[in-house]
Amino acid sequence: MRDNHEAFKETLAAHILVKSFGQVDADDSLDDFSTYLATEAWEILPPKARSASYEEPFAFDDLKDDVFDATPLQFSDTLVAYGIVDDRDDALKLLRNAIDTYLQEACAAPPVGKQTRLAECEICEREIPLTYHHLIPRSVHNKVLKRGWHPQERLNAVAWLCRYCHSTVHRLASNEDLARYFYTVDLLLAREDIQRWRAWAGRQRYGKRRG
Ligand SMILES: [Zn+2]
Ligand SMILES: [Zn+2]
Repeated sequence: MRDNHEAFKETLAAHILVKSFGQVDADDSLDDFSTYLATEAWEILPPKARSASYEEPFAFDDLKDDVFDATPLQFSDTLVAYGIVDDRDDALKLLRNAIDTYLQEACAAPPVGKQTRLAECEICEREIPLTYHHLIPRSVHNKVLKRGWHPQERLNAVAWLCRYCHSTVHRLASNEDLARYFYTVDLLLAREDIQRWRAWAGRQRYGKRRG
């Protein structure tokens, strides 16, 4: 449960970072900012959403609209004051997306097969449970082959990423862009927004950086 709150904070921070395009730096101010906002928003979630897990999942669609209506004004006012969103509707949209992502991640199946041990995420280098990311997403494999962007043998390349880095990657680039321009970990790490995310995520308490 403690971990869920921490995970929710990270998810919210990722959404803010992606949305803010530089208004908020990925330094301690983002940490304070997202801790504050996550605490405000956490209270609106029903207990079963807060404790959601693979064994006891909670679906985003089960949240009623009045849950979001109860979001404290401070939450939306703060985001508007920082220029991250235009108005309360926009703030609630960001919150809905963050909660949707948080619930999906909290309820996701544990990593499969041999990689259930802890190892380092290839982006943030934290030792936390990992998921695999198809560097060339499967949904665009047919297109990739038809257009000749990559040879068949490269299609199965994967990167091992923590859930937070994984969903950040998918929020920052479409599947087609991932396939065409960001099909290795090095190419992903060369992106400025990924570097900002990485610098911030690497310092979070949820999971530790080795050594
Ligand atoms: Zn990571
Ligand atoms: Zn992926």
